[in-house]
Amino acid sequence: MISTRQEQRANLFPASLAINKKRLLNDLNAISRIGLGEHGSMTRLVFSIKELRSRQLLIHLMTQAGLKVHVDRIGNIFGRLNGGGPKAPAVIAGSHLDSVLHGGKFDGPVGVVGALEAVRTLKENKVGLPCPIEVACFVGEESSRFGFSTLGSSLLAGQVRMEDLANAVDAHGTKLEDVLASMGIYRDTLASLKRDPATVKAYLELHIEQGPILEAKKKKIGIVTAIAAPTRLKVIFTGQADHSGTTPMEMRKDALVAAAQLIGYIEEICREYSKMEQGRVVGTVGAMKIEPGVINAIPGKVELSVDIRSIAAKAKDRVAAMVKRRAREIAKQRGIALEILPIRAEHPVPLDESLLPVIREICEEKNIPYEIMPSGAGHDAMQMAKIARAGMIFIPSKKGISHSPLEWTAPEDICLGAQVLLETIVKVAYEKN
Ligand SMILES: [Zn+2]
Repeated sequence: MISTRQEQRANLFPASLAINKKRLLNDLNAISRIGLGEHGSMTRLVFSIKELRSRQLLIHLMTQAGLKVHVDRIGNIFGRLNGGGPKAPAVIAGSHLDSVLHGGKFDGPVGVVGALEAVRTLKENKVGLPCPIEVACFVGEESSRFGFSTLGSSLLAGQVRMEDLANAVDAHGTKLEDVLASMGIYRDTLASLKRDPATVKAYLELHIEQGPILEAKKKKIGIVTAIAAPTRLKVIFTGQADHSGTTPMEMRKDALVAAAQLIGYIEEICREYSKMEQGRVVGTVGAMKIEPGVINAIPGKVELSVDIRSIAAKAKDRVAAMVKRRAREIAKQRGIALEILPIRAEHPVPLDESLLPVIREICEEKNIPYEIMPSGAGHDAMQMAKIARAGMIFIPSKKGISHSPLEWTAPEDICLGAQVLLETIVKVAYEKN
């Protein structure tokens, strides 16, 4: 007699329940043909024709698979396989289809198509689960167009401040609000997108690692513990632009040398913090504006962007405070002006502790080498974690390259990731509510 849900699962999960690898890779390739550019680059910026077309293809694939498709007002897509009673909370699995400018074909689509394949496999094998499973595709995960990341999942989690939407503008000066209005989407209708947490049992996301750790450690699956959040600052040193030939060294107020000192310090302090197991911090100066920026003038003004990330909030705040203090010291020593503008200070998001052992158990049962690790990049899962238990499964990225045409994950790694996702979905579906 079957007495526990685990036993029921064992009975309902035949060893032969395996995803269809060919179909998964075919669908991934079909999506990759939309927005394909030179050297295999992928450009599907949010709300571009190509990105809309990729979502249309997904709706087609979901319909073909016999899923009940729902598209919400912003364009998030949900393909539902019914199970349990009408009120049973759903296990949602998904990711995004939009890309950065000249990105790769794996960041996002792997998680959407992987979830679709998992659900198709359940449906084909007539595996009845005690709850519904939904495949999700979130709109606008990437911030490349409007500087606004995880748009669709943030709305679902009720995390969008409507005034932030009003400020979002793309590189051509087009306002996000105007783009939305042109599609009949108005700000005041978006607040209603927030999903009732009682309708979600868990959220799972399969994603490429976008870093070098799995490949370097020869691991096939990464189980994500937490998602790092950035603190971003703009630092402006203002000295004095002068003639590079006539101004003696001791009389200069060179803003760029001050900036260089600060950049060196950021590397030094983050290297020190990266040795710590608990409070690993990374810091980057990725953009700099130099004025006047000519060969024969001493730089009078330098603006630099500082991006500090960690999954440990305290360590991140400490490093950010040390960077600010050092900037003030440098400005004082050199007698130049300093301005520090906060751009963003987000909190790291821990993922659900009860999902991690579920994924680990699957890897151990199947002898899959795995790594328990944080995510340095942001994902839709960090928004979903605010309304549901959220877990992430990483697969290796060749040389850690991402947001580039060189982004690559081996087909067998994608299929293994989708299989682990499928088994995780089944295990979580059978957990008690
Ligand atoms: Zn992504």
